[in-house]
Amino acid sequence: MKLIEISSKSALSKSGLGYDYALNPYRGCEFGCIYCYAPDVLREQRIWGQFVDIKRNIPTILAKELKKRTKGVVGISTVTDAFQPVERRFEVTRRCLEQLLKFDFPISIQTKSDLILKYLDLFQQFSQIDIGITLTTMNEASRKIFEPRAASIQARINALKQLNAHGISTWLFIGPILPHITDQDLEALIQAAAHAKVQEIHVDRLRLKAGTWKRIHTALSKKAPELIVPFRNALWDSPTYFTDIEIRIMQLCKDSGIPCQLAFKPTVD
Ligand code: SF4
Repeated sequence: MKLIEISSKSALSKSGLGYDYALNPYRGCEFGCIYCYAPDVLREQRIWGQFVDIKRNIPTILAKELKKRTKGVVGISTVTDAFQPVERRFEVTRRCLEQLLKFDFPISIQTKSDLILKYLDLFQQFSQIDIGITLTTMNEASRKIFEPRAASIQARINALKQLNAHGISTWLFIGPILPHITDQDLEALIQAAAHAKVQEIHVDRLRLKAGTWKRIHTALSKKAPELIVPFRNALWDSPTYFTDIEIRIMQLCKDSGIPCQLAFKPTVD
């Protein structure tokens, strides 16, 4: 893993995900999920998952920006994972959280890391906070193919439980729906969410950016070639594939009493 310390000119950026602001304390991500859209969004040429740029000065820049900005929700980890292992050493995210807390900005976090539990003391002091943890499968072997260096499934479920036990509002993100992977254990996924007492489930389908299919294809060729054809079929030859899965998820959520939000709204009779 190549770690590079860099200086950032700004901290808060525009968010394309519905937040008022986005904050990404690192550029790059050790977790290296093969479906990650961040390298396309950032137009990153380096190999995703093999480098992390550490924005060492970003807490100082953030403090200056927070003094001038209108209060609004800050989405943390929109094109990186702010709680990836490098955070243990550099604590850039922790120092950003301290600034956000000082100015009492509402925050919304998304992560695949159980390192988040280290910051419970800080989270509990925010007036408004929610934390989303992603799960795309309940199968650890599949998880290792698609999210090779992210926390294990069990560690993520435990993180959701712990956050809820400490009064933090949480949501499970099922996304992207991975064809013939996510749909294999939807019942278990929703059940795990219910046991962990998450307040909402958010769902999104696999959406291909320019380089995504190439990266998925390369990884699947090496680790699970049998999935290439089913992936192709779901993406290009089965117009209702994702809608059908989303309808199943909506029904399971309804049965479990968990509100469900879809990025794409299927039409249901
Ligand atoms: S954790 Fe998020 S940012 Fe990191 S590689 Fe996976 S999808 Fe991309």
